[in-house]
Amino acid sequence: MAFRQPYVGGNWKMNLNRQRATELCRAVAESEHQQSGVDVAIFPAFVHLDAAGATLDLAKSDVALGAQDFYPAPDGAFTGEMSIAMLKDLGVQTVLVGHSERRHVIGEPDDLIAKKTAAALNAGLTCVLCVGETLEQRQAGDTDQINESQLRSALTDCQLTDTAKLVVAYEPVWAIGTGKTATPADAQTAHHKIRSVLADIFDSSTAGAIRVIYGGSVKPANAVELFSQSDIDGGLIGGAALDPSSFSDISNAARNAVRPQGATQL
Ligand code: PEP
Repeated sequence: MAFRQPYVGGNWKMNLNRQRATELCRAVAESEHQQSGVDVAIFPAFVHLDAAGATLDLAKSDVALGAQDFYPAPDGAFTGEMSIAMLKDLGVQTVLVGHSERRHVIGEPDDLIAKKTAAALNAGLTCVLCVGETLEQRQAGDTDQINESQLRSALTDCQLTDTAKLVVAYEPVWAIGTGKTATPADAQTAHHKIRSVLADIFDSSTAGAIRVIYGGSVKPANAVELFSQSDIDGGLIGGAALDPSSFSDISNAARNAVRPQGATQL
């Protein structure tokens, strides 16, 4: 099995004012200071990116600065939108694409998600591509089929030159912000299937190197067991990322997780 450095992202969504965002950013930078073994990123709201970038820079932090969204055109008449170049100007290194709140609350379609994925990867950003099924789709037994179709639609035409730049986040919609979590065994099954779809889209060695992280009500109490599954390479964290001590416990769970060694059959 290829070594995959765990990845933990904190999605702050539409929360916090400038002062609290800056304080949280400083606390994350301090707790991650001189820690290795996990790639940690934070995704503040757009309006806090500048202050967060300055705080991370002052703290000489290894925590990556992420944006929750962008528009996949270089510039032009797109009122209210932000380009990748604008984000890079603020020091953004990583972006979320296809988050369930953008798919299901804002109504973002698959073709826009595909354009965003390609634009992020072409620009050299780390793209955290989110996929996952709704409760109805799960109850209908369609979890793997939904994950597969979201992956194929987003990735089939993209050029992947560096496997570290693509992170797939499996986030069952029914688990996001609800306090319900997939069991570690169910999450592992979904992750393994996702990795086999990645092997079909790319090839097995590429699929073995891409991080597939889990999101959906991850907390310090469930992080260790989730992150100990062989195909779970960390997490995308919403609610618990707003509390610096919970977020630090979760990144430490990823750092210390012991995952089974051996070849993953794809
Ligand atoms: C998320 O927003 O991606 C998420 C997983 O949220 P929560 O941890 O609150 O479920």
